[in-house]
Order: sequence, then structure tokens, then C-alpha cells
Amino acid sequence: MKLIFLGPPGAGKGTLAARAVDILGLPHISTGAIFRSAIEAQSPLGLKVKAIIDAGKLVDDDTTIELVKERLARDDVQKGYILDGFPRTIPQAEALAKFSAVDKVVNFDIPDSGVLERLGGRRVCRKCGHNFHMVFDKPAKDEVCDHCGGEVYTRDDDRPEAIQKRLEVYRAQTAPLIAFYRQQGLLLDVDARPKVDEVVTNFKKTLGL
Ligand code: AMP
Repeated sequence: MKLIFLGPPGAGKGTLAARAVDILGLPHISTGAIFRSAIEAQSPLGLKVKAIIDAGKLVDDDTTIELVKERLARDDVQKGYILDGFPRTIPQAEALAKFSAVDKVVNFDIPDSGVLERLGGRRVCRKCGHNFHMVFDKPAKDEVCDHCGGEVYTRDDDRPEAIQKRLEVYRAQTAPLIAFYRQQGLLLDVDARPKVDEVVTNFKKTLGL
């Protein structure tokens, strides 16, 4: 099954994708995570995108599309995948349609108030990318990942100014994808406001699992 996870920043796409990986046994492809590891590694891609990402803006379509096209050419995704954070613009969605036929697009719906609460407390493991939350899901030991022992930190783009920018960008450039995929009959809506376990249950029900 080829799935796209759509939704505003902070809807919980990354956390839900990690759970969906266990349920469906499909690889999780997060363009944001790929960019963050490129930044950690200080690779040419990382150096190119760091300032853009820290400011809460979008990386250009050509760079992002190329990255996903290469990733989706690998063997491990031929049975399916969960694409998290891509596409984020109509041109990205049009490009994707040319190299991969998506089965369903899951739209995780949450109002801005929920986004601010979630992103404000979010922490991420620098090593394995696991998401924590300082109120809802704290690591057992401060700043240490429960899963791999890596350093748990606040993403630069989770600062308040960057969060506002990311919401603006979402509304202007990504939200139009909801109508785009609805028109194609691919969209499934899932309420992302409840706690993770409940959202996972709704997700399974919506997909008929
Ligand atoms: P995420 O982890 O999905 O919130 O992504 C973090 C950041 O990476 C975004 O705010 C963008 O700057 C960049 N990014 C991730 N995916 C894309 C995409 N599909 N197109 C453009 N920029 C992206």
C-alpha cells in the first residue's frame, strides 16, 4: 500500500507514521528526517537546506522531488511506503504522480491551537529521530532517548517564530493538496486531536484494517 500522510506541522504525522510502520510493515519516508540527517552530517544537501529549514520555509521543489524520486526507486519500497511530509506543494504532488501511483492520502486534521501545544513541547532524538513531548511523552531521563540513548533536543524550527512561519506556509502551499487529492477520490480524513492511541485506532478503522 502506497500512503501519503498529510496534515499541518504538529499534527503528529511522524509519531503516527512510526506506529503505522509497525501495523503495516512498510518503510517510513520522511523528507524532513532526510533533511535533518543531511544537516547533522553537514553534507552538501544539509548545508544547502539548513537556513531554509531553520526559518520554517520550504526547500525548493526541484531538490525535494529529486530526493524522493531517488528514494522511491529503491527496492524496499516496491510493495509500498508511508510518505510523511511529501508532497507539500501542488507541483510536488504532480511530479509524484508521474513516478509513483499513490493508493490513499490520509489527512490528519487538527486546529492551530493543537498545533501550538504540540510543537511547543516537542523534543526529538538526534540519533534515531524518535519524537517526545515534555508534557505528554517525556523521556525517562532528561535529554536522553529511551530507545537509543541519543541526545534529545528541540528542533530549531520548533521555535515560536518558525512555528508561525510553518503554519503560514502550510496554509498557503500545502493545504490546497487536501482538495487536490479529494477530487481524485484518494483522501481519507482522520481527526488528529485525540491522544495517539485513539488516533491510531481511528486510522486503522478508516483504512479498514
Ligand atoms: P517536517 O519534519 O516534515 O516538519 O519537515 C521539516 C522541514 O523540512 C520543513 O519545515 C521544510 O523546511 C523541510 N521539508 C520537509 N519536507 C519538505 C517538502 N516536501 N518540501 C519542501 N520542504 C520540506
